[in-house]
Amino acid sequence: MNTSAQREKTATCVVIGSTGSIGTQTLQVIDRLSARGYGMRVVGLAARSHPSFIQQLKTYRPAGYCFERPLTGIPETARRYGAVEEMLDALHPDMTMIASSGGISLSYALKALETSKRLCLANKESVVLGGRLIPERAKALGKELIPVDSEHSGLFQLLLGTDRKEIRKVYITASGGALRDWDESRKENASVEQVLRHPNWQMGAKITVDSATLMNKALEMIEAKFLFDLPKETIAAAFCHNSFVHAVLAYWDGHFKIHAGPPDMRIPIAYSLTYPERVSVLEENGTAVEDPRSLFEPMILKPADTAVHPPLRLAQAVIDAPSSLRIALNAANEAAVLLFLQRKVTFGELTRLVERTVLSQEAYEVTELSQILELHEGIKRRVELDYSC
Ligand code: NDP
Ligand code: MG
Repeated sequence: MNTSAQREKTATCVVIGSTGSIGTQTLQVIDRLSARGYGMRVVGLAARSHPSFIQQLKTYRPAGYCFERPLTGIPETARRYGAVEEMLDALHPDMTMIASSGGISLSYALKALETSKRLCLANKESVVLGGRLIPERAKALGKELIPVDSEHSGLFQLLLGTDRKEIRKVYITASGGALRDWDESRKENASVEQVLRHPNWQMGAKITVDSATLMNKALEMIEAKFLFDLPKETIAAAFCHNSFVHAVLAYWDGHFKIHAGPPDMRIPIAYSLTYPERVSVLEENGTAVEDPRSLFEPMILKPADTAVHPPLRLAQAVIDAPSSLRIALNAANEAAVLLFLQRKVTFGELTRLVERTVLSQEAYEVTELSQILELHEGIKRRVELDYSC
C-alpha cells in the first residue's frame, strides 16, 4: 500500500448521482479508501428518486442532500436542498463526483468547479453539451478536472508528460456492446433485455444502450476532443473485445503508448479521487489485483470504420460544427434511448431518429449555459412528443 494515509486532512466529498452505477461504486471506493486511512468524508449526496438513497443517507450521514421529494426517518443533521447547485454552494467540498446521468449535469459540473477544489467527472453528456465550457472554466478557476470515463482516464494518464505535437492519433476503444456479434438485419428488432446484456461492463441502462448503438463511442470521441483539446483528425475509435485496452496514443515516431486494465470502473473512480497517487481498492485488504484473463488474453484492437457506423459518422459531422448540432445529437439520443427503454421505438429506429433530428437542426453557436440547457430540453421534449401516443 502506498502512503496515501498521510494526507494532511480528511477530504470532503459530494457525490451527485449516488444511487447509480458510478455513484454506488464511488461510495464503495470511498469506504475502501477510508478503511485504508485515506481520509474521505461524504458531506453531500444527490439522486433523483431511487429508494436506496434513504439507506445511503443513514450510512453516510451527510450534511446535505438533494432528492426529488422530502424524506422522513433520515438523520436530522442532513439538510435537504432544492437544487444540486444550491447544495454545492453551501457545502464547498474538496471534491465533487458528477455521476448523474444526462445533459443537465452540465450545470452541476460548472457549479462543482466553482465550489470544489476538484471535479471528478464521470458524466459525458455534459462535455458533449458544453464543449469547451467545462475545461475552460476549470482552467480559468485553477481547479482540477479529473475524467472518470475509463477511456478518458486512460487518455489523461497517457497525456501526462506528452508533447501534443508528437501525437499522430488517439484511439479510444469500444467493446461493441451487447449486439456486437449480431447481423445488422437482426439488430433492427433487438429487445430491451437483449440490449441491456453487456458482455464486459456493469453500467446504468442509458449507457448500456449507447454501447450497443455505438453512440457511447460517438459521445466519447466528442468528450475526448473537448476535454483534451485534440484536433478532430487525430481522434479515432477501435474495437477491443475484452475491454482491457482503454486508450492508445500513436506517436509520429512510430511508438504507441497503451493504457490497459481490467474493465472495472472502481479503478478510474479511485484514481480520480486519489490523483496523483494510486491506491488499490479492488480487494478488501488492499492487495494488488491481477486479472489473469485480461493479462494473458491478447490485446487485439480492430479499427472502427467511421463511415460504416452511423453514430461515429454523426460524431465526426458535429464535432467541429456549431454547437447546436452537438446539443441536438445528445438531446435526441437521450430522448430516443428513453423511448427505446419504454418500448416505443425499435432498436434500429433509435439511431435513425437521432440522425434525422441532427440533420434537421439549424446550425448555430450556443455558448450560455441557460441557452444550452433550453435547447437541450426543447429538443428532448420535441422528440418525446413525436412518440407520445
Ligand atoms: P445510472 O443511470 O446508473 O445512474 C444515474 C444516477 O444519476 C442515479 O443516481 C440517478 O438517480 C441520478 N440522477 C439522474 N438524474 C439526476 C438529476 N437530474 N439530478 C441528480 N441526480 C440525478 O447511470 P451511470 O452511473 O451508468 O452513469 C452516470 C454517468 O456516468 C453517465 O453520464 C454515464 O455516461 C457516465 N459513465 C458511466 C459509466 C458506467 O460504467 N456506468 C462509465 C463511464 C461513464 P436515481 O437512481 O434516483 O434515478
Ligand atoms: Mg467509457
